[in-house]
Amino acid sequence: MKILIADDDKIGRLVLAKQLETWGHQVLQAVDGMEAFAIFQQEVPPLVITDWMMPKLDGPGLCSKIREEESDSDNLCFIILLTSKESSEDLAQGIQAGANDFITKPFEPLELQARLRNGEWILNLQAELKRKKEEAVQLSRTDALTQLMNRRAMLDTMRLDEDRMRRERRPLGLVMIDLDHFKAVNDNYGHNMGDTVLKGAAECFSSAIRGGDYVGRWGGEEFLIALPGADIIQCAEVAERCRNQLAAMRFTTEDGETIQVTASFGTASAEGADRVELLDLVEQADRALYWAKDSGRNRVKIYVASADPNLKQNPRG
Ligand code: GH3
Ligand code: MG
Ligand code: MG
Repeated sequence: MKILIADDDKIGRLVLAKQLETWGHQVLQAVDGMEAFAIFQQEVPPLVITDWMMPKLDGPGLCSKIREEESDSDNLCFIILLTSKESSEDLAQGIQAGANDFITKPFEPLELQARLRNGEWILNLQAELKRKKEEAVQLSRTDALTQLMNRRAMLDTMRLDEDRMRRERRPLGLVMIDLDHFKAVNDNYGHNMGDTVLKGAAECFSSAIRGGDYVGRWGGEEFLIALPGADIIQCAEVAERCRNQLAAMRFTTEDGETIQVTASFGTASAEGADRVELLDLVEQADRALYWAKDSGRNRVKIYVASADPNLKQNPRG
């Protein structure tokens, strides 16, 4: 473990460093609180052992500065205060400042070792908690069946990209996809086969798009592709590629029958004077998808405002 020790007493510091090194730790040394804080910012050691009385910045002062520095982090270091002070007021002040534990000077190796173990235990718990938290966030953003982003993750990511594209005066393109007659796959071959087809379609769309573009599961058998920077023609090209690749896939049922599926695609892209809000853009892609369904399925339709009867009925300014 990387351990930072701060002590203005050279002999005491060297004895402590030597002891820690014999136990296999990597030791960083500071001669006062200010130097310790500078090293802390640079190296971010998981464990700090600091003397109480030091010039420039004392032990409790160092604790406070470290805790302030860590205020946005979920990676807190374990701080042990070295002290010959031991009135309850002193201990309370040390804890108030952010110390986790104390050890009296001169230290007893056995006691020091026990307190280090305690520190390591807390640090491991903290790391475990952080891992679990990251896992939970990842799970909450991932569709369990296809492993694609779910609708919430798509919306978050698209909002960031929409802001970025707006700043850069570039378009954001969308392709909304809905599998054709998918209910019949479930009805004829069972729900498991339906799931297999959904996973296959997800892999197909993922492999058909380029770096920087991304696909998510928007709903049951609906997928959405976001293409930052793509105009409506580029969107239609990607949609056409996806359409072809999906139609070329073959799925084998439990009975050994080979089936294929198709999908309908609606594309929309916002830029310049036509720029609309993200949710309106999603709605435009959805409307184009509806046109694709309506005109026979297994095809790509692009959204054109002048062809939108809804827009003519309620013009939006
Ligand atoms: P259309 O061409 O008009 O889109 O017809 P469709 O049959 O694809 O559309 P519909 O909305 O009638 O049916 C969609 C079906 O998708 C119904 C639903 O049970 C199924 N579905 C939704 N989510 C899942 C899933 O996770 N697994 C499976 N196996 N089926 C699902
Ligand atoms: Mg469908
Ligand atoms: Mg549907």
